[in-house]
Amino acid sequence: MRLSRYFLPILKETPKEAEIVSHRLMLRAGMIRQQAAGIYSFLPLGLKVLDKVSNIIREEQNRSGAIEILMPTIQSADLWRESGRYDAYGKEMLRIEDRHERELLYGPTNEEMVTDIFRSYVRSYKDLPLNLYHIQWKFRDEVRPRFGVMRSREFLMKDAYSFDLDFDRAQTAYHRMFVAYLRTFARCGLKAIPMRADTGPIGGNLSHEFIILASTGESEVFCHRDYLAMNEPGEDVDFANADQLAGIVKDWTTPYAATDEMHDEAVWNAVPEEERVSARGIEVGHIFYFGTKYSEAMGAVVAGPDGNNVPVHMGSYGIGPSRLIAAAIEASHDENGIIWPKALAPFDVGLINMKPGDADCDAACERLYAEMQAKGIDVLYDDQDTRAGAKFASMDLIGLPTQVIVGPRGAKVGEVEIKDRASGARDTISIDQVVARIS
Ligand code: ATP
Ligand code: MG
Ligand code: MG
Ligand code: MG
Repeated sequence: MRLSRYFLPILKETPKEAEIVSHRLMLRAGMIRQQAAGIYSFLPLGLKVLDKVSNIIREEQNRSGAIEILMPTIQSADLWRESGRYDAYGKEMLRIEDRHERELLYGPTNEEMVTDIFRSYVRSYKDLPLNLYHIQWKFRDEVRPRFGVMRSREFLMKDAYSFDLDFDRAQTAYHRMFVAYLRTFARCGLKAIPMRADTGPIGGNLSHEFIILASTGESEVFCHRDYLAMNEPGEDVDFANADQLAGIVKDWTTPYAATDEMHDEAVWNAVPEEERVSARGIEVGHIFYFGTKYSEAMGAVVAGPDGNNVPVHMGSYGIGPSRLIAAAIEASHDENGIIWPKALAPFDVGLINMKPGDADCDAACERLYAEMQAKGIDVLYDDQDTRAGAKFASMDLIGLPTQVIVGPRGAKVGEVEIKDRASGARDTISIDQVVARIS
């Protein structure tokens, strides 16, 4: 992409309304624009990152055996009356009336709708296990939308819903998602720690929030230092092997980790002091087993092996891709801007022409631009006629992992500079070596 043809509205001034660094940087880097309180447009750079996150989530959901669907954003109030949640949900739900005075709502979540889909088609335990997910916009009329897309009113969510014959199988479905989440966050270049979360009236221990440690996080969290050094399961994990999954979950739930709601001072005090991490955290994902709560209320039953109908055991599993982007920036930035983990970077490389119009610079850049594209390297080429200082500042701000800097003196002798955004390390190399170095 040539910057001169792109739409990258970088802000020079720091927006006053933004209280935390990720919000400031997303606005300054031209990733998002607020359209109303807690409602954002994703601009090209922001959308590229959002798509990268969604694709990683999708690949790992698919790998675990979940199946993608797409449910609408608008739902009928009647469906929510069946579960009893239409009145219970309260003011976070945006209620809408259509021209025929039918009551609708903008979905804050999809348990009711997916249960309706399930009950309409599935009759037998032989069709289980089933896990259906979608990646769709949600609306929650948060009392205090703030921090940009970290806590917005309209936000993207991946929500998956599992259906199983009994508790044991539902537990395995939960483990599948647990492991898929470990892989998903690791692939995004993030350290997300599964922490015990409130199970409410359902009870048991099958509710975990996946938390990214960050000083600006809204939750208070407590965990064992061991988590910081743990390695996520690899690509070879066998999602058909319930014992293997249970083993991984056991490893990842044995050291202490809890959000403030579940925090147990007595157990915590037994952890050696130097091993304790008490910090603030951002909830990027949440998995939850809720048994037959919706299946009983809504008549989602299957015939078991003995022919009798039983309500299915369900769980739901959410990740907020839009919040995850903000969390990634909170976790990785410096005073000059964002430092993207490679997997989330909107472009792989920023190619900077320091002197457009200079024949050597132009020729070197055009050649590198073409070679990178031929190799499938996604490159943002700053071909604009602006000051070198402004170019460097913008490139650092948007945080692409690698910068290739082409100046007139180097270009004349066939050399360019290559800079690693994270470490700041710079190297002068021959133009011939550039593509090999970055691919
Ligand atoms: P919170 O505690 O932050 O209000 P939640 O527990 O209400 O979040 P869930 O219902 O568990 O959220 O939704 C699943 C995921 O959706 C969350 O883990 C989070 O990543 C994302 N999410 C929830 N609310 C928002 C929001 N207002 N803005 C952006 N992402 C959100
Ligand atoms: Mg909430
Ligand atoms: Mg929460
Ligand atoms: Mg939650």
